[in-house]
Amino acid sequence: MNTESPISAKVRTIREKHEEEISALVHADWAAAFPWLLQGTTTRGAPGHEFDLGLFSEGTPPEAVQAHWRQLLTVTKMQVAIHSPQVHEADVQIYKTGKTSGLQIMEACDGHITSQIAVLLAVTTADCVPIFLVEPQARVVGVLHAGWRGVAAGILEQGLAAMFQEFGIREKQLHVHLGPAICGDCYQVGPEVFEALKLTVPSGPRPLDLRTVLADRGSALGVDLDRMSRSAHCTICTQSGLFSHRDGDRARHVAFVGIRA
Ligand SMILES: [Zn+2]
Repeated sequence: MNTESPISAKVRTIREKHEEEISALVHADWAAAFPWLLQGTTTRGAPGHEFDLGLFSEGTPPEAVQAHWRQLLTVTKMQVAIHSPQVHEADVQIYKTGKTSGLQIMEACDGHITSQIAVLLAVTTADCVPIFLVEPQARVVGVLHAGWRGVAAGILEQGLAAMFQEFGIREKQLHVHLGPAICGDCYQVGPEVFEALKLTVPSGPRPLDLRTVLADRGSALGVDLDRMSRSAHCTICTQSGLFSHRDGDRARHVAFVGIRA
């Protein structure tokens, strides 16, 4: 149950292409349509050398994680990486100032938006859904971290509201991609999660597809179905080289977006 809804069934499912150089899954349609856009979700890298970008997950030693962030900036040719501790809430930060370089850790939040060039915005995920937001006319981009708590707290709603408040961008102008995440077949949760998400509450544990929930919410908020897409990649069952918290990984991949210099 609950893996499809009439609305989410109309949202295009895409399978991101693996880009060797970055070690990332990239939305090929977006890459073709928006050559100025940098977008992707990193993958676990070569065997024996995990491309762990988790600064707060205590997997890989911190020096190695820092080196991975430098590597990410180098291969993507970006000047700054913006990241923060994530708290499964709905705060979104706007990044407008320039003149910094390297990895910048902001205050705890679960979303980042910018119109600055050469700024790589990043959220870590390992089952949660990364939501990518792109407005090609004004060239504003964002990325949100959405686990069930964040979805219930309104991270998508806050991200869209910030786009309007800061840049005057309406929902229907946005291109929205629901990135690699645990799929509805692999994610089983208790009734309390359904209750928090204001869904029909089952009597016991049931599968939940967060990307379906997000597609429904996005559509209800005014996002054009033709401008929405969802990833076919699952952190567990599609063998896509992603980390899964539920499957025992302590390492983290990052979902990143930015405007190329
Ligand atoms: Zn799966």
